Amino acid sequence: MKVLICDATDPKALKIIEEAGIEVVNQPDITPEELLETIPEFPCMVVRSRTKVTREVIDAGTALKAIVRAGVGLDNIDVPYAKEKGIQVLNTPTASTQSVAELTVGYMLALARQLPQMTASMKEGKWEKKAFTGIEVSGKTLGLIGSGRIGRAVADRAIALGMTVVAYDPYISELENIELVELDELLAKADFISLHVPHTDETHNILDQSAFKKMKDGVRVINCGRGGTIDEDALYQAVLDGKVAGAALDVYAQEPLTDPKLFSLNQVIGSPHVGAGTKEGKARVGEIAAQKVIEALKG
Ligand code: NAD
Repeated sequence: MKVLICDATDPKALKIIEEAGIEVVNQPDITPEELLETIPEFPCMVVRSRTKVTREVIDAGTALKAIVRAGVGLDNIDVPYAKEKGIQVLNTPTASTQSVAELTVGYMLALARQLPQMTASMKEGKWEKKAFTGIEVSGKTLGLIGSGRIGRAVADRAIALGMTVVAYDPYISELENIELVELDELLAKADFISLHVPHTDETHNILDQSAFKKMKDGVRVINCGRGGTIDEDALYQAVLDGKVAGAALDVYAQEPLTDPKLFSLNQVIGSPHVGAGTKEGKARVGEIAAQKVIEALKG
């Protein structure tokens, strides 16, 4: 029994797998060409988001029984084809909830008080006391697009900060503490809008030019969900027009981000898709992924 680890994975996870009597072949920098050569002998592989498990990889993986995604999104795996071939696809959907929720709340406060812009000003040796009047989040309305695990964890934290939370999620019929509303109502009511949906045909550019027009002036927008859910050109224009007072992005339509246009705007802050990137989150992802490998190979 052996498993091929294709992306950087917490060392503790590898130890857990080895202790279960499974041989671990750790190739965190494996290239697509090397993967095609190596995969035939492995019944199980572990990937994060870097490695793409394409139809070609699945065809080459003649011994494959399980593909374990250490993380949530399955966009890098051809799931329907894997299932057609009888290969299990397993992920770790609960492992990063707190980390992403905390990053979202961090961004909400950073946008409210312009923390990155103020820090940049201090680093330039300035003392711009009057240039950075912020807003309080307390008493404001947070609109969540998508209210699953992460959306709800964000809501709990926002309510503790004194915010009112509304959500648009057509797949949920009732939520405690959160009023479910139609998308247009959310756009009209929210002072902060935060996206926590997967990228699907329905959510593709769910925040487009017409959505931005329906928002309050001075709205602040956060995306720690998935790229492709905001029309980035429309966001750029909405910031230039003064409609959007600030935006915080962790995810992008194209990753790695190649077009720095959005970040040329002072009102836009962000990070390189690190929502799950905390010590605790990574350890949890690794531990749960290790359990999934053991279950898949040992039953
Ligand atoms: P989840 O499945 O628990 O929640 C997603 C919610 O989106 C569900 O409640 C679903 O009903 C809702 N939804 C689906 N289609 C919708 C639509 N058209 N309109 C409105 N709502 C819709 O997932 P989660 O664990 O809460 O994760 C949310 C997102 O965060 C996922 O896309 C995930 O990939 C992403 N994520 C990002 C990071 C990061 O590093 N930034 C880390 C983990 C997860």
